[in-house]
Amino acid sequence: PRIVSAAFVASSSDPGKLPAPALAEVAFAGRSNVGKSSLLNTMMQRKNLARTSRTPGCTRQINLFEVAWTDGLHVHLVDLPGYGYAKRSRTEKSSWGPMLEGYLSTRGVLRAVTILVDVRRGPEEDDLELVDFLHALETPPRILLAATKIDKLSRAQQKPALEKVKRQFKGPIIGFSSVTGDGRDALWQRLRHAIAI
Ligand code: GDP
Repeated sequence: PRIVSAAFVASSSDPGKLPAPALAEVAFAGRSNVGKSSLLNTMMQRKNLARTSRTPGCTRQINLFEVAWTDGLHVHLVDLPGYGYAKRSRTEKSSWGPMLEGYLSTRGVLRAVTILVDVRRGPEEDDLELVDFLHALETPPRILLAATKIDKLSRAQQKPALEKVKRQFKGPIIGFSSVTGDGRDALWQRLRHAIAI
């Protein structure tokens, strides 16, 4: 199957103000500048539907996109605000703030969260804490991991780098590049699987 359309649906800093859950949703999270907007554009085969941020930490909103496939599948891709641009205080540590937590814990249609990490940096504290947060939810979504910007490494460097991230995360990981399109099909395959079950 192929994508027939991809469109922006809504944007809000208040999860309660997003359109009522109508379609299965898959969300994308990661540190600012990890390449999330670029990945979303690559996934949707659109140049600038998800705006790539010039100022890290500037896009403090949840953006919703709808993607339709030739086989009738409709899905919402959810662009969550990038984190990690400001150090959270100790008391905030367990808190992702009302926006992220509100979205992640109230959307019954949420099927999967893809956490993005830069392949050269691997997971950082925030990423691992998000994994813990998701595991602790009443109905945890499937967690997918994508290592971004793999084109920045040579082919020979990619495999050991991905193996390392995989060990740190203790789970499978998909290498992704918005420049070459590597990983796009593999990630869609996992997402479609998560939506179907
Ligand atoms: P976001 O803040 O997570 O949405 O990140 P962006 O998508 O805006 O990307 C941040 C920067 O990384 C931009 O300069 C992008 O051009 C660059 N970038 C994103 N994805 C890739 C990639 O796959 N390969 C390379 N080489 N650069 C990338």
